[in-house]
Amino acid sequence: MLLKSLHGVSRLGVRFYRKLIDPLDLLTGIEKRELLAHLAGDCDPFRILSIKKGPGTRERPNLIPSSNSSRLICCHCTESDNHLKFMWLHQGDPKRCGCGYWFELCPIAPL
Ligand SMILES: [Zn+2]
Repeated sequence: MLLKSLHGVSRLGVRFYRKLIDPLDLLTGIEKRELLAHLAGDCDPFRILSIKKGPGTRERPNLIPSSNSSRLICCHCTESDNHLKFMWLHQGDPKRCGCGYWFELCPIAPL
C-alpha cells in the first residue's frame, strides 16, 4: 500500500520512484539502540519483563539486572495474592521481601 503511493507520474509526465527510508537512518539515541538490540535478537533490552523467582535465599538471592545503582521492583509474593509488593533495591544491599525471598541488584551494561 505504502509502496504504491510512492510510485507515480508527476504533473510533467515524468515517472518517479521514491525509495522507502530505513527507520535506522531516522532514529537517534536510545531509540536507535533499542531498535538495534531488537534486530540483534534481544527482545527485552531494558530488562523489564518479569523474572521467575529462584531459591531466593540469603546466600543465593534472586538477581535483578539493572544498569543503575538502584531499581524499583515488585514481588508477587504468592499466587493467590491480588496485589504486588513494591520495594527499592540498591546496589550492594540485598533486600528481603515480606514473603521471605531475597533480592539483589545485578549490575549490567547500560543500553
Ligand atoms: Zn514477596
